[in-house]
Amino acid sequence: ESISIPDIKAGILKGERAKLAKGITLIESNAAHHFELAQELLQSILPHTGKSLRIGISGVPGAGKSTFIEAFGTYLCSLGHKVAVLAVDPSSSVNGGSILGDKTRMEELARNPRAFIRPSPSEGTLGGVHRKTRETMLLCEAAGFDVILIETVGVGQSEAIVRGMVDFFMMLALTGAGDELQGMKKGIMELVDGIVVNKADGDNLPRAIKTRSEYSRILHFLQPVTKGWMSKALTCSAVTGKGIDDVWDMLQEFSETTKQSGVFEDRRRRQSREWFHSLINSQLHQLFYKNSTIKQLLPVLENQIMAGDQTITKAVQEVFQTFLDTFEKK
Ligand code: GDP
Repeated sequence: ESISIPDIKAGILKGERAKLAKGITLIESNAAHHFELAQELLQSILPHTGKSLRIGISGVPGAGKSTFIEAFGTYLCSLGHKVAVLAVDPSSSVNGGSILGDKTRMEELARNPRAFIRPSPSEGTLGGVHRKTRETMLLCEAAGFDVILIETVGVGQSEAIVRGMVDFFMMLALTGAGDELQGMKKGIMELVDGIVVNKADGDNLPRAIKTRSEYSRILHFLQPVTKGWMSKALTCSAVTGKGIDDVWDMLQEFSETTKQSGVFEDRRRRQSREWFHSLINSQLHQLFYKNSTIKQLLPVLENQIMAGDQTITKAVQEVFQTFLDTFEKK
């Protein structure tokens, strides 16, 4: 099959889904020649990217992420927005299994002509999933999607990774007793611009309201993750739809405030710089560990170190000198 980058680009800019999907397939492919083509495509669409509001949504399994995204995404489409839903699923890179990605989720939103849903890229390291999701987001922006939702699960590094690619990071929370809240990972509370206590309906409503105010109190004590923005806690019900509009109001307020102060653009710029360094790091890492001379040398030095025959610093020096020598010879 022949692949024409100008053709895919033109289709994406016209908002054609088939061409968008084709572009994403190139980005997700692990074939070297696809990588080249994908980079050519990205370069060519770059002037058309960046115009969306990028929102990260995290939460433990069962918090209601897919139900919420279905309701929230459908609501945004009804307001005239175009919504792309992407996912960063750490489990897909570890064991090929998936916490997030099965296709039966969000059926209503998936049928909405204003929405586009793409499950997490599988295969490869979390770094690889990260790169692919970030680049897919750019293609979606070029295709005219003005709200990007990136879903992830509250495990491992994936939350920090998603935080690094979005403007607003939100946690979808369940109701719980105060002690549980205190005991929860403080790490994530320090990343969020907003906490949405979901399932605020039926018998659960009073508890949800109480939980919201507890979160509010905790957020007050934390250093804001976004300068000039006091992280908020809200309640909503993804099932009844109550409070979904409040979430959007909060996001708009955030967007207006941070765009006015310059914090929005500043974060985008910093994210690009961090992204640049993170790609350099991962390429250096690969270049080093895939080098055949290094592959042979490492176990030898490991044994010497474990036997106490060699100092670690000296072994590191030797390994880098050997690495550099492999370039000299070329
Ligand atoms: P995820 O694992 O975070 O994607 O969670 P799901 O969206 O699959 O939801 C987990 C369960 O909670 C499902 O049985 C949902 O029907 C239920 N659920 C999600 N949102 C709400 C809500 O707002 N109210 C109620 N009562 N149940 C909900």
